[in-house]
Amino acid sequence: MNYIVLDLEWNQACNHEFENPRIPFEIIEIGAVKLNKKLKLIDSYSSIIKPKHYKKIQPHIKSILNYDEATLKKGRPFDMVFREFIKWCGTDYIFCTWGSMDLSYLQNNMDYYYMKPFPSPLKYYNIQQMYSDIIDKESSMIKLEKAVENMAIPVDRPFHSAVNDAYYTGLILQKLSPRDIEDRYCYDVYNNPKEKEDEIVSYHKNYMEHISKEYDDKNEALKDAELFSMICYRCGKKISKKIKWYANTPNSYVCVGKCWYHGLVQGKLRFKQSKEGKIFAIKTMLPTDKKGMENIRKRQDELRIKRQEKRHSKAN
Ligand SMILES: [Zn+2]
Repeated sequence: MNYIVLDLEWNQACNHEFENPRIPFEIIEIGAVKLNKKLKLIDSYSSIIKPKHYKKIQPHIKSILNYDEATLKKGRPFDMVFREFIKWCGTDYIFCTWGSMDLSYLQNNMDYYYMKPFPSPLKYYNIQQMYSDIIDKESSMIKLEKAVENMAIPVDRPFHSAVNDAYYTGLILQKLSPRDIEDRYCYDVYNNPKEKEDEIVSYHKNYMEHISKEYDDKNEALKDAELFSMICYRCGKKISKKIKWYANTPNSYVCVGKCWYHGLVQGKLRFKQSKEGKIFAIKTMLPTDKKGMENIRKRQDELRIKRQEKRHSKAN
């Protein structure tokens, strides 16, 4: 199996009233590198796309790009480029991207042109997330440039051209050990599970991920006892509650439980909005320790005090 490290550049409307809601982000460049199963770089792909909607490059995008509107004019239409790109990918591959946006925008543009969707569920590697999990646990959503700098990767070509960014992302991937990579796949949620039978439950070495079905709204989801069940990331058994689920932010919940065999387990649940405006949840269960549990409890107490203060000030 090959790794297709993909990167896109996109443009958007100059202001909201000119935005086409079916395609808020229009792809203007597809770049990728192909790594074989031994992580050797074996090929690259690069194409400029002639935009249909947003022909003027937005200033904040233009300031980082290495080309302008004249270059875009010489590009080819999205559907033509995409077909060529997919053919180039081959038959046995997995996508790798820096962050989760590229696959989402790619599929939105595919939808816009009524192209055949990717098989669902779509597995991929989020290299930005893997960098945070393996290399720099303090980092989150770190920029590609910064990660390249931190890993002392020589910079021999400019950033913000899709193929170059894909190349740098590929070099970061090369620095991870194949054993580390294999287990850290995730699922793209652009086409999120709709029904119970579509739900995704995947067990990894050190965490479990559950992508729920769709709910009409958050209240409906909050009533689903199974969604909020605490289970062990290793054995999948129901575990006893140590700290009940509480809202950490309006759309994220945390809990702590204990598995008789595998110790303390932390749960995280995030609500996400589907592209049709419904709600689904991503629940992860992962190991924690006493200190981790104490921190979660401390945070819960702080939130409780804040809420009480708020209520108090309202009452006065
Ligand atoms: Zn267990």
